[in-house]
Formats: sequence, structure tokens, C-alpha cells
Amino acid sequence: MDLGFSSIPVNVYAFRNDKIRAKILNEIKSSWLHGKAFAIAPVAFANDTTMTISRNWLFVELVVVGAIAIGAVLLAYKYYRISRENDLLRKQAENEARQDALTDIFNKRAGLEKLSENIKLANRQQLPLSFVFFDIDFFKPYNDNYGHQAGDKALKLVAATVTENIRETDIFFRYGGEEFGIILPNTSLSAANEVAEKVRGAIETRGIKPEEPKDNFSGVTVSLGVAELMQGEGEAELIGRADDAAYESKDNGRNQVTLSRSVQGEGFIRNSVLIGLSAILTVGAFLFGPVAKAFAAGTVAVAGVGVN
Ligand code: GH3
Ligand code: MG
Ligand code: MG
Repeated sequence: MDLGFSSIPVNVYAFRNDKIRAKILNEIKSSWLHGKAFAIAPVAFANDTTMTISRNWLFVELVVVGAIAIGAVLLAYKYYRISRENDLLRKQAENEARQDALTDIFNKRAGLEKLSENIKLANRQQLPLSFVFFDIDFFKPYNDNYGHQAGDKALKLVAATVTENIRETDIFFRYGGEEFGIILPNTSLSAANEVAEKVRGAIETRGIKPEEPKDNFSGVTVSLGVAELMQGEGEAELIGRADDAAYESKDNGRNQVTLSRSVQGEGFIRNSVLIGLSAILTVGAFLFGPVAKAFAAGTVAVAGVGVN
């Protein structure tokens, strides 16, 4: 190959042969090297036109491109970390908004949301759903006697005991103060009664009490009410019935379970009887209405003749 060197500095190379130059330039133009090639290859130039790029510039260019690339990677990584931290913080905030800070179970807001969702699901799937409402017995005197901190400790232990005695699919939440709710999906009233009785017994036998109990206090107890979802019922009515039943437990001496008296069966029977009665009355009115009218008309006519 006819390769010659000009009088330009040692770190600059040049081709003098036109043919080779044209070939190399064409190849470079049609490849990805176009625009970059002169930075990394010896420089081609025409007889009169000298194209030169110093190796020093090549080095500077590489350093600048490298620095930009490293900077871009570092920046991307920084933004990736910030967005991950933001995601974690958002999730944490969401969890905190749904969690009771003292007992670590769901709070009222989350519990009511879950109840609404589960009622819809139960209606759609035609499955039973029950709700347990319970309240700690004589908790005001507990706080008064042993202090608020001891009361908080007892609340935590009650919550932990319940969590240990229900299924993972059951939803346990703090309704407020010393009142709690348990949503039992796919659970009939009698099965829910068993769950409630298990929870009551577990709390009683755990013997949740302060370090120095007064008056032979043997431990915290709870009063519970259980209700099974009826057709067309919303969360407020279901909670209301379980709450009423829990009040009955209080009235009857506390530390016990009461089932809501209105159950699906009763509602169904009551509705069926009402529908049956109205059907009989409608048919009766249809069949006997004209007869009665004719009879009444006849009586009126006879009465009229008699008068005349
Ligand atoms: P009953 O058996 O009829 O339920 O009586 P009670 O004393 O439990 O009922 P009452 O509603 O009069 O008292 C509830 C008490 O629960 C009042 C309050 O001091 C206590 N309480 C509610 N929330 C908390 C809490 O977060 N921490 C503590 N330590 N106590 C609480
Ligand atoms: Mg209460
Ligand atoms: Mg109470």
C-alpha cells in the first residue's frame, strides 16, 4: 500500500494515496465508525486536504465521554435509589394508615374496608360470612387501678392472643378503645360461635393481669357477640347486630359469647311466610272478590225491592 507521511507531527498519520483514501473513507462512511473513526484510526487525507486529529485530542475525548458516561450511570443509580426509597416510604405510610399503632393489627378504617369487600365477595359467591364483636370487661377500672401503661400492655396481649387463635384468612381489627372486630369469611353462625368461644377461652386462660393484681384479680376477660351476614345486609347492620349481642353478653354477666338472634334462617322463614300470606290474599281477592261483590250487589238489590 502506498502509504506516506507528511511533515505533520509524529502523532498524526496520513494516507497520500487517493485510491486508498477514497476506499477507506467509503468504508468508514458506510460503517458505524463514521464520525468516530478518525478519533481512533490513523487519519486519512487527500493530497492537498489534510485531515488531522491529534492523539491528545483522542485522549481528551475519551476522558470526557468516559466521565459523562460514569456521571450518567451514577445519576441513574441515584434516581433509582431515591425512587426505591420513595416506594418504601409510600408503602410504609399506607401500612401505617391501615394499622393500629398500639396492637399492630388492622385499624377501624382498614377493618371496615375489609368488611365491605368481604360482604360483596360473600354475596357474589353465595358463601356465609360472620362477624364477631368483642369488648374488654371492666377495662376502665383496670386502667384506674393499674395505670394507662398497664392497660396498653393488656390491650396488646389481648390482640396477640386473638391473632394466635384465628385463621390467617380471618381479619382482626381494633374497632376503637377496648373494642375489636373479627371478620370470618366463609363461616356460618355456628362455626363463628366456636371461634368466638375459642377466643374467649384463650383470653381467659392467658391470665392477662398486672404484676401486682388487687383483690385476687385473675385476669382480663372479654364479652363477645356474633352475627352471620343476612341477605341484603350492609356492614353497619351486621356490626350493629354483633354489637347488640356483645351487650347482651355484658348484661348476662360478661366473659361470654352471645349469638345475634336474627339469623339468616329466621329472616328467610319470616320473608317466606309474608310472601305466602300476600300470595293467598291476592289470589283470594281475585277469586272471591267478584263473588263477594255479586253477593253484596244481590243483597243491595233484594234490600231495595224490600224497601220498595
Ligand atoms: P364494660 O365491662 O362494661 O365494657 O366496662 P368498661 O370499663 O370496659 O367500659 P368503659 O367503656 O366504661 O371503659 C372503657 C375503657 O377503656 C376506658 C378507657 O380508659 C379504656 N381504654 C380505651 N382505649 C384505651 C387505650 O388505648 N389504652 C388504655 N390503656 N385504655 C384504653
Ligand atoms: Mg367499650
Ligand atoms: Mg369494656
